[in-house]
Amino acid sequence: MSAKVKPENARVAADRLAAEGGPRAVTAPRPTLWAHGPAEIGKEEIAAVRKVLERRMLFRFGLDRKESYAARFEDLMAKKTGARFALAMNSGTSALMAGLVGLGVSPGDEVLVPAYTYIATAAAVLALGAFPVIVDVDRSLMMDPQDLAKKITPRSCVVIPVHMRGSVCDMERILAVARRHKLRVLEDCAQANGATYRGRHVGTLGDAGAFSLQQSKVISAGEGGILITSDRRVFERAAFYHDSAYMFWMEKQGTPAEQRRRQRETFLGQNFRMPELLGAVAYEQLKKRDRILARTRAIKRRLWAACEDAFGPEALESPNDRAGDCGLAMTVFCESPAQAMEWARLLKAEGVNCGTRFSKEIPDRHVYYFWNYIMEKRTPHRNGFPWVSRDHPCMVQYDREMCPQTIHWMERAVLMPITQAMSDEYVRQVCTAIRKVGRWSSAH
Ligand SMILES: *Cc1c(COP(=O)(O)O)cnc(C)c1O
Repeated sequence: MSAKVKPENARVAADRLAAEGGPRAVTAPRPTLWAHGPAEIGKEEIAAVRKVLERRMLFRFGLDRKESYAARFEDLMAKKTGARFALAMNSGTSALMAGLVGLGVSPGDEVLVPAYTYIATAAAVLALGAFPVIVDVDRSLMMDPQDLAKKITPRSCVVIPVHMRGSVCDMERILAVARRHKLRVLEDCAQANGATYRGRHVGTLGDAGAFSLQQSKVISAGEGGILITSDRRVFERAAFYHDSAYMFWMEKQGTPAEQRRRQRETFLGQNFRMPELLGAVAYEQLKKRDRILARTRAIKRRLWAACEDAFGPEALESPNDRAGDCGLAMTVFCESPAQAMEWARLLKAEGVNCGTRFSKEIPDRHVYYFWNYIMEKRTPHRNGFPWVSRDHPCMVQYDREMCPQTIHWMERAVLMPITQAMSDEYVRQVCTAIRKVGRWSSAH
């Protein structure tokens, strides 16, 4: 602030928007963004990786379950979520594919996915020869249960609700629709490790849940994934599929009768195994998860209060379970796409990290509109599989205007990402910036 400003004018000067030449509200250093788990890597991860290297056994099935980091990661994930079984893999996409196989998805089946999710959710379906049916999202920016009911056909098999950016889907209504139509539910929890719905961990509400450990997720090992389920049959089918030699590693596990049954039931698989180096990082990161989320949730409560003061309760996001939200972002809705651009511009000028959610000019792989290879039905296969097939022709049509609610809400949303690395001072200044822009917007 200029030294020439008289005290009685100081407040007015501080109120002047940075976009109009006033002082910036946020002056504290901006923390690293998009780093939740990875920002917390410390001596624990380093010691675990070192131990793996020093014992020179990088392969999980070369070790006893008690010794293997991949197995310990599975056991801790099962304990934290309350699921009976957990299966670590090399990516979230692998976890989705193994989960779909676990639930019995076959070529030609239709799998319902939301219009707002990372493209891998739909790609995992296609990799199995099944077809993604794109369901509109509601104001929560997640699968709309009403549109879900409309998109079901006799070929529908599985629903994949996706818990986006740490928030949770309207699971009660989604599960009710699924039950009515006898569909199974695979929760995509890639972005919501640690979120809960009515006190239950995501991934345990449906039949199975898939998580990712890629760099941008709550906790990370660079890559990696895990599937959880409490259904033994789903778990075993997923395990057979995740490793073409799973049976050999399991030869001595369980009773002789169980071993014989597994021998009879095993089928072809991939190699989606989790290596020990990944397991070591994943296990140590999982131990840090709840501390990270306690901080992001506390920050979100403060941003929520500031946004409510600034823009009014009607502008706030519509969470399906506010207490269970991971607190990875705060979203507000504007009356028009132009207003969203304006709010984002003013907030950015104040030093707030934020962005609008959708523009036809800026490709974002999280919005179906930009899923080009699906919209245009492209495939690596010479014979057109899976789109072209005599036995199971694709009955799904795609076009860029098919989910109007998604475009409507995304165009009006302004999102502010949250990380645990934001200092109290930084958060206080962001709240000041929000209130400042709010006062300006109610005066204009
Ligand atoms: C990251 C992500 C995936 C895929 O996980 P990978 O580990 O990158 O394969 C799937 N779905 C959603 C919603 C994601 O954010």
